[in-house]
Amino acid sequence: MTLGILGGGQLGYMLALAGYPLGLHFRFLDPSPEAPVGRIAQRVTAEYTDHGALERFANGLQLVTYEFENVPVEAARFLEKRIPVYPPPAALEAAQDRLAEKTLFRNLGVNTTDFLRVSKPSDLEAAVEQLGLPAVLKTSRMGYDGKGQWILRNAEDVTKAKSELPEVPHILEHFVPFKRELSVLAVRSRNGETAFYPLVENHHRGGILRLSLAPAPSLEPQIQRAAEDIARRVLESLKYVGVLAIEFFQHEGRLLANEMAPRVHNSGHWTIEGAVTSQFENHLRAVLGLPLGSTGSAGHCAMINLIGDLPEPSEVLAVPDAHLHFYGKVPRPGRKLGHVTLRASSPERLALRLSELPAFFHRPDFCLEPALVQSASARL
Ligand code: AMP
Repeated sequence: MTLGILGGGQLGYMLALAGYPLGLHFRFLDPSPEAPVGRIAQRVTAEYTDHGALERFANGLQLVTYEFENVPVEAARFLEKRIPVYPPPAALEAAQDRLAEKTLFRNLGVNTTDFLRVSKPSDLEAAVEQLGLPAVLKTSRMGYDGKGQWILRNAEDVTKAKSELPEVPHILEHFVPFKRELSVLAVRSRNGETAFYPLVENHHRGGILRLSLAPAPSLEPQIQRAAEDIARRVLESLKYVGVLAIEFFQHEGRLLANEMAPRVHNSGHWTIEGAVTSQFENHLRAVLGLPLGSTGSAGHCAMINLIGDLPEPSEVLAVPDAHLHFYGKVPRPGRKLGHVTLRASSPERLALRLSELPAFFHRPDFCLEPALVQSASARL
């Protein structure tokens, strides 16, 4: 049985690795001849808008899923006329536009930060007047990893952002002085079964995820319940099938939904070694209508993204229960090249393992400041 995956990056790579033990085969479509999945699966190199290539890609597949949320919705709808496509293209559509996404959250009664639409640069001042400062201005579509974002703290920032703003719709959000960032990975199967992983605490720098702690330290049971309740509402409203990630700000004891990704997610990489069933396997189980696997955690994990350059494997693997994942990509500044998951049986051991990582990791961009390691240990 062969599944088609739109997008050929590391998420697709890890989906395929999870699918081989289940007897699955994979075919990927990605415009880049460098897409990492070329090492391990059939790859069609073509634009997502190339209907002839989509026809060839779909021929003989059981179903299609995606690992990249900026796949054109039109491509997913074109394929949907021929074979099942999961998650539903409507989820892709909502997740691609921050205004649509936050409006969906609002309509489902899910709290978000206050936001306004900024249709053109000349609307910015009036929106700032209404919402107040500090605020975050984001491009409504095609933004990811902190790209297309401005933090506005004063009038000068507003003037500067206005002069740089492309003529496309933006969203202005109230800046949330959050306690921490959390994400939930939820999964819904074709037959309606749902499951939820424990919340994860995420640390970003420059808009890119650097470190995830899982389960989130000092996780209040009512916060986990609230996250599951929100995720369930989104899953049911979209008749969703597959893994869905929702990112939150925890602020004044509440969760504010920031964004969602209709796919497996970077903050779920820890599940490969740290959960009974990985997010990748559960996504495949869900789209195939197989029973979902347990989302329970097997210990305490830290997932550290390797961005721009790679450590010496022997130094990482010398740390007990350290797991290295290289994605086979050509190094480039700011590029996610791999990740490391550290697993431990207790919070104290996890803190110790973090401190044992080689010097390579004790740079500010890994978010492994001694204070964080200590506070993680204290809070775990
Ligand atoms: P996003 O692309 O929306 O995930 O934003 C990237 C990162 O910017 C988030 O993970 C936060 O750290 C920060 N950020 C985004 N929106 C806000 C906001 N409204 N208030 C405070 N920080 C934010």
